[in-house]
Amino acid sequence: MLKKYMLYLVRWQLSTPILAIVLIILAAIPTVIATIAANLIGGLIFFWVDRFIFRSLSKEPLWEIRDDIVCYDCGKQGRGYRIAEWLGYNRRQDSNPQFRCEVCKDIKMQDVKNRIKCNQKSVKIF
Ligand SMILES: [Zn+2]
Repeated sequence: MLKKYMLYLVRWQLSTPILAIVLIILAAIPTVIATIAANLIGGLIFFWVDRFIFRSLSKEPLWEIRDDIVCYDCGKQGRGYRIAEWLGYNRRQDSNPQFRCEVCKDIKMQDVKNRIKCNQKSVKIF
């Protein structure tokens, strides 16, 4: 978390030159309007940078947990788990999410972990 926080502080400083340059270029118009324009330009750029910072550095899986599901692998009914996101593996918008029981989720987690390792070696995104 500290690494992510430090990266975010550095990124925050990168917005300063953009703000300054736009304010210099738009010096002829009222400062409030020039500031709004500068922040709009910064937002268009740094939305993607922030998204990268907050998504790519999460080394732990993001789990979605639901009660009263049927395990996708073994059919057992009860609490279900699924990995919604983990590094390049992203199933957040999955239209047909697959939940697994306590036992099967560990097997699936190992499978996803292996796929992440393979993809990191071949620089292939899921
Ligand atoms: Zn199961």
